[in-house]
Order: sequence, then C-alpha cells, then structure tokens
Amino acid sequence: MPDPEQERINQAAHLFKKSKFAVAFTGAGISVPSGIPDFRSPGGLWSKYDPLLVASAQALDNNPEQVWNFLLETSSLLDKAKPNPAHLSLAELEKQGRLQGVITQNIDNLHQKGGSRVVVEYHGNFQRFYCRECYREVPLSDIRQAEPSSVPLLCRECKGLVRPDVVFFGESIPQSAHARSLNLVQAADLILIAGTSGEVAPANTLPDKVKRNQGRIIEINLGRTAYTQISDIRFDGPVEEVLPKLADMILT
Ligand SMILES: [Zn+2]
Repeated sequence: MPDPEQERINQAAHLFKKSKFAVAFTGAGISVPSGIPDFRSPGGLWSKYDPLLVASAQALDNNPEQVWNFLLETSSLLDKAKPNPAHLSLAELEKQGRLQGVITQNIDNLHQKGGSRVVVEYHGNFQRFYCRECYREVPLSDIRQAEPSSVPLLCRECKGLVRPDVVFFGESIPQSAHARSLNLVQAADLILIAGTSGEVAPANTLPDKVKRNQGRIIEINLGRTAYTQISDIRFDGPVEEVLPKLADMILT
C-alpha cells in the first residue's frame, strides 16, 4: 500500500520542480511551533487583551501606557522565539533557487532569523520601532531595556511616542508591502500556503491571484480553511513536519 501522504509529497515536489517561480505565503500557524501562540486562538494574546485597546492608533493616543505594557510583553515573547524546521525549510528552498520569496502576515521576524532573504512583511515587523512624530528609527536595545515603569517609550530627540513598525487595527497595509507582494504573486506559477487559514483581508486574496493565472496552490494547514476548495494539493498536518519532508523531496 503506498503511503497517501508520501504520494502527495511526491506530487507536490513534482509541481515545485516544474515551477519557474514559486512563492510561499505564511501566517500565524507557521510560528506556533516556535512558541508564539496565534494571537487569535484561545490562549493567544487576543484572549487576554482587547486588540482595539492595545493595538490600534487610537489606543496609542488614548492609553499609551497600556499599549506599551502590551508591547513589552509581546516583545519579550518574540525575542525568545527561534525559527522552527518550517521556517528553515523555506530558507533552504530559497537558497537552492526553488523559492523566489516569502509573503508573511507574521510580525515575528522568524523567516529572517531562519535565513530567508526575500521576505515581504504584510503586517510589518515587531523588531522595528520608530518615533511617530519624527520617524526616527529607535534601536531595539532601547525597547529591550525599557521597564514597565518607564513606559510609554518616548523619542530621545523630540519626545514623540515610539511605536512598532506593525500594522495596527484600523490601519492600512503599507503600500510598499502590498506592491511587492502583488509583484510576487503576479509572477508566480505556484504558491505554497503554510500556516494561514485565509481569514485576514486583504492578504487572503493573494492565492486567488496565482490561481487566476493558472498557477498551482499547495496548502499545508491544520483542518479545513478558506483555501481548501482552491488548493491543488493539500496537507492536513503540522507545517513543521510536512514542510521539511517536502523540501527534502524537492531538493533531492
Ligand atoms: Zn521623534
């Protein structure tokens, strides 16, 4: 009896080898094995905090101290996280010329820590902070040294409020990230969806664009998602297990 998962890995590897321009599209699920709970899941940060009260531009105006307590907690969680085999597999595929880039909805910097070079951050990066008045970049060491008693963090130059370079609730996607991700998906003949269920607009519309250009979709997710209907090959399993197996098969 052939192993059905192995069969699908062979088929997916075949699609990868045939493809001329493959991209990956990732979300919270790829970082869960690195110890970062999905903000949206039970036990995730949004079950503890109301996102509108801690992660919106309005909240930063009205209650900067509360926002900053949340930012410090998130920062220490993300600082400790290390890339897992799924991140490392994507970096290796890129290094070997089989993947042209990663579009991620994550803000945790783990693709870069894992070695990926072309990374489009749809929702920003929590390792970058800047002053919202003068736009001066604030070194991460300042954030790491901040104490709960010294927040909110203010700009040394102009005393403006410091904020992370992430997309807060109610804010729009940075124009450059949107343009870069469109360029990637419009060139793509294959998109690998890993750890994202397709609930957050407008990032969730990217795989459709590949499909419309007759590209292929490979999905690795736990359970059914918005992409299940349009995926050519689908793996219902842990991304940190499936992706290394797939990468091995592509690279042998
Ligand atoms: Zn400033």
